[in-house]
Amino acid sequence: MTTLLRAQIRPGMQGIDTTVKSAQGIWRAFAPTWQMVMGYKSGTLSWDAYCEQYAQILARVPAHVWETLAQAERQIVLCYCREGWNCHTHELIEFAVRQFPERFVDGRPDRKSSTRLDSLT
Ligand SMILES: [Zn+2]
Repeated sequence: MTTLLRAQIRPGMQGIDTTVKSAQGIWRAFAPTWQMVMGYKSGTLSWDAYCEQYAQILARVPAHVWETLAQAERQIVLCYCREGWNCHTHELIEFAVRQFPERFVDGRPDRKSSTRLDSLT
């Protein structure tokens, strides 16, 4: 069983970069497109529409990528977004747990409490 978490990309943070900007190798399969990222940032693409498009990307992720993701006890998917922001990494974790409940568990702390913790630091 693999526990999935997400974190913000920062120096020294170990994990899997899933961004369109800098994801490497097989992990590029988890990246959204530039068009989606720019559309959401500029306000021409709603978060719901972004998630719909991203779900289609997730549905096309090859089986071997999911298998590789499941080869560690704990995996941290990374993005540039801060904790508490809308981010495709949340969608990725939710999709993985829903699609492969025998392989993945959601290791994210409660979103409200993580926001609280952030505001204390
Ligand atoms: Zn993000």
